Amino acid sequence: TVDVPESVQRFLGRASDSIVVGAEQRSATGNGQITTQDPATGATLTSIAAGGKPDVDEAVASAQSAFGEWRAMSAAARGHVLLDIATILDAHAEELATLETLDNGKPFTESMYVDVALAAQVWRYYGGWTTKLTGQTVPVSPPVGEALVYTRREPLGVVGAIVPWNFPLLIASWKVAPALAAGNTVVLKPSEFTSLSALRMVELALEAGLPPGAMNLVTGYGPEAGQALIDHPGVAKISFTGSTDTGRRIVTASAPHLKKLTLELGGKSANIVFPDADLAAAAQGALTGIFMNQGQVCCAGSRLFVHRDVHDELVQELASAAKAIQLGHGLADDTEMGPLISPKQLERVQGYVESGLREGATLVCGGDRPNGVLANGNFLSPTVFTQVRDDMSIAAEEIFGPVLSVLSFDDENEAVRRANASAYGLAAGVWTNDVRRAHRVAAELDAGTVWVNMYNMIDPAAPFGGFKASGYGRDLGEEALLGYTQTKSVWLNL
Ligand code: NAD
Repeated sequence: TVDVPESVQRFLGRASDSIVVGAEQRSATGNGQITTQDPATGATLTSIAAGGKPDVDEAVASAQSAFGEWRAMSAAARGHVLLDIATILDAHAEELATLETLDNGKPFTESMYVDVALAAQVWRYYGGWTTKLTGQTVPVSPPVGEALVYTRREPLGVVGAIVPWNFPLLIASWKVAPALAAGNTVVLKPSEFTSLSALRMVELALEAGLPPGAMNLVTGYGPEAGQALIDHPGVAKISFTGSTDTGRRIVTASAPHLKKLTLELGGKSANIVFPDADLAAAAQGALTGIFMNQGQVCCAGSRLFVHRDVHDELVQELASAAKAIQLGHGLADDTEMGPLISPKQLERVQGYVESGLREGATLVCGGDRPNGVLANGNFLSPTVFTQVRDDMSIAAEEIFGPVLSVLSFDDENEAVRRANASAYGLAAGVWTNDVRRAHRVAAELDAGTVWVNMYNMIDPAAPFGGFKASGYGRDLGEEALLGYTQTKSVWLNL
């Protein structure tokens, strides 16, 4: 049993009124409810509304009617609202982190110091940007006369944000904060597995002074609420994070209205350890890279390439650390790794463990499930495979679970070539003490983010997104903000 603070219990009690249109929170129009479970125990936490097309229609209408007022607010006033949202999120950090852990399963310390802390930073970062979104004057050369041309960065209108279950509050903030900063209004569709923290965020944002209608939220299943949002002609842009399959569906569905898209999709990121690396740091980085958030991280370093000379030593260090990881309920003090999001996800990841064994990889540790009280949750022990070949499914496909594939290599060119031989290109890691090699390899890797002697670092100012099948467009940084604007050139006859 875990203690759930009263503020969280109160919220769980009202979560079934879970669609937020303008300032009003209410249930879906007759589409039923979705049961929300604690993935560590299987216990029912609450239920949320299963929204559908009528709810999305209302939410988009609400966002459309709020757009005029929101875009017309002074940049400084808009920025203040975003800064106040950052402050209120920080003030409710424990409550939000508890909700995130109950809903998603991740350890409380991760919810508190990664998800919620970074979410507040993202709101603060974009709150500072509203007054810095400038255009340019352009030196044109008309055939006759003279002209002044300047550009304006204008909002797009209504943005639909569709987000996954692995970092529910954080990824929602990645999308909603820059969209609002640029003057758009938003309809947010959180994952049906983890809608609670986003719902609470909308309540808090309204309390902090966000005008009703600027951010609306529709809970519900992807093929219903999500599909209605991508099909809606009144939505100018879809900003999506999720699987590559859903991403492809969004591209097709958005074609008739030529919606703008930002797509953050799957990954199979390579983490490369060269023989001159600090091996203790590399082992630690490899562990964080694959076991943080139970491996349910789009940029997880799931392919660990280790130079043959240091392979055995590194694997030994990794395996003993992996075996020591404490599984448990995310709200328990000593928990280092929580459960997977759902029984279905557990089954999927176990299927990969079986395919690794079948295809001839060596299971060094994990692959099993804990007994006792944890057997009720979706737990899987931290799993490490060695003797993995590039063509095995555990090396080629995104597992999205705590399963590390270790591959050995002999030289730098080979490591880069094999790292790049993936359909994905989200992130990569490089471990070396040779500064020239670090820059050379970072430039050669096909990945939207390369970490050198670190892994899984994120900052609101650093753009994040994928090469190849990992998507297009960027979250975070100035680039994300510009992605929520369109450029207008104004010509003035002088
Ligand atoms: P998912 O694609 O199943 O769902 C993501 C969101 O899309 C959910 O809100 C879901 O309800 C919605 N959705 C599903 N079908 C839809 C449809 N037909 N129309 C509209 N919306 C629909 O992904 P998931 O299982 O929630 O998340 C895991 C995936 O997300 C992994 O592949 C992971 O790599 C990826 N991910 C990527 C990043 C990144 O930044 N690149 C970050 C986190 C997760």
